[in-house]
Amino acid sequence: KVAKNIKPGWLKIKLHNDVKYADVSKIVEKHGLHTICDSGKCPNKAECWSRKTATFMILGDVCTRSCKFCATKTGKPLPPEQGEPEEVAESIRLMGLKHAVLTSVDRDDLPDGGAGHWAETIRAIRRVNPDTTIEVLIPDFDCRKELLDIVIDAAPDIIGHNIETVERLTPLVRSRARYRTSLEVLRYIASRGAVAKSGLMLGLGETETEILATLDDLADAGCSIVTLGQYLRPTMKHYPVAEYVTPQKFAMYGDLARMRGFRYVASAPLVRSSYMAEEALLNFRKE
Ligand code: SF4
Ligand code: SF4
Repeated sequence: KVAKNIKPGWLKIKLHNDVKYADVSKIVEKHGLHTICDSGKCPNKAECWSRKTATFMILGDVCTRSCKFCATKTGKPLPPEQGEPEEVAESIRLMGLKHAVLTSVDRDDLPDGGAGHWAETIRAIRRVNPDTTIEVLIPDFDCRKELLDIVIDAAPDIIGHNIETVERLTPLVRSRARYRTSLEVLRYIASRGAVAKSGLMLGLGETETEILATLDDLADAGCSIVTLGQYLRPTMKHYPVAEYVTPQKFAMYGDLARMRGFRYVASAPLVRSSYMAEEALLNFRKE
């Protein structure tokens, strides 16, 4: 089933251009930072930035992988910027963030996959912002436990790794990453006592049975938080949208996920793994 080019009404986004939005833009620009809000062409940017939340993307803005759904640039990245951990930490302080979300491009070019830089950034944020909770959305590091340990030992509050899609579609849309490797990454994170989070995009052509099997796999791996959102094609060169899943269906998948024991579930068309992440953490802590 191929979706028509016209997006349904529930995907229309609000435009904000207020003072807080401009503040975030200025801080990001002044400190030479990258955000996945920009690189990923996120539809929630106006809303999130007006709420003074953003997801920083560390280790540059060029990825060594080239997933067919992702708007991030691909190629040969520059060496990591030594000063980046401090710049990110300072920006979080200036933005007054209570909950900071970080992600990165994949750095298969670096011997440690960027794990050391990840840990330095987490530690710098904690040093400058001791009351800020930290959520990281990490690459698979090819499931090398010694690299995952470097990040886990820096003790972020939540460690996310996105499974992105169902098993059958993974080789069609993800580059290098494997479905079973991602599950092992999540299983390892949870086994080390950290809070594991994952997310998947709907609308790539997956069936209901496949979605439920993926939720079962994530629950079995020990994942506690799961997000489900609509895949939106960043450009015409990217993987086509097969279906715009209705808000009602998202609500149904949300209920089916909760029945599988996840402690926090966000499931709606515009949900992204970092959307309202602070709320996820607060809800998680209430339990
Ligand atoms: Fe940025 Fe995440 Fe908000 Fe999108 S949902 S604008 S990536 S913080
Ligand atoms: Fe995008 Fe991540 Fe794939 Fe790189 S590995 S292309 S950042 S989804």
